[in-house]
Amino acid sequence: MVGLGLGQVGGGIEVVCGPMFSGKTEELIRRVRRAQIGRQKVQIFKPAIDDRYHKTKVVSHSSQSIESTPVVNSLEILQKLYDSTRIVAIDEVQFFDEAVITVIRKLARRGIRVICAGLDQDSDGMPFGPMPVLLAIADHVQKVQAVCSLCGAPATKSFRKPTDNRNQVMVGEQDMYEARCRYHFEYNDEEEELLNYTYALRPSASVQTDTVN
Ligand code: ADP
Ligand code: MG
Repeated sequence: MVGLGLGQVGGGIEVVCGPMFSGKTEELIRRVRRAQIGRQKVQIFKPAIDDRYHKTKVVSHSSQSIESTPVVNSLEILQKLYDSTRIVAIDEVQFFDEAVITVIRKLARRGIRVICAGLDQDSDGMPFGPMPVLLAIADHVQKVQAVCSLCGAPATKSFRKPTDNRNQVMVGEQDMYEARCRYHFEYNDEEEELLNYTYALRPSASVQTDTVN
């Protein structure tokens, strides 16, 4: 898979993107573990805003975890960087502001391999924060897919369950979001209402794939 040799001869930027539950964090952890096997000094950062599972750990939905440093802004990544660090991994990179692009480019110029994981799209299906630029300037991009919670097809979208809050940044979990394929993401309001009605009739809130279409 990713065997670019980045970080051995020079720096580089890798981006892992996709919707919620698509395995971005798992993939980030996998790359970090491999680097650690190679005895390379790795530092992992995450935005402090994301404390859903743990204050300092990066945790996947499959309960894999790795210790990280929470930062309130991207400049803190530079401040907290050790001279010996060869690899920087940043999870939930979409939550950072535009300055993170400069920070990441600086790191790569210093010869550091930068692994970023983040949501490519928000729950309106629009580009999320600094992600479009990061995807454009990356040396390597992997787009990962989840499984549509309605039909089981590959899911590329994060669907936010109906709520009054319209902020782009609403940190949440299965209670607020689900992965959906393009078709089921673009259901219109009427269809969605019908769907919610069907859910309400079920004994459990969990979604089955056979009753929706
Ligand atoms: P991400 O960081 O992209 O949100 P994670 O790496 O945290 O994803 O979690 C991926 C894991 O989430 C999968 O291996 C699987 O165990 C679990 N999972 C839960 N819901 C789904 C879904 N709808 N599609 C795929 N995986 C899911
Ligand atoms: Mg994640």
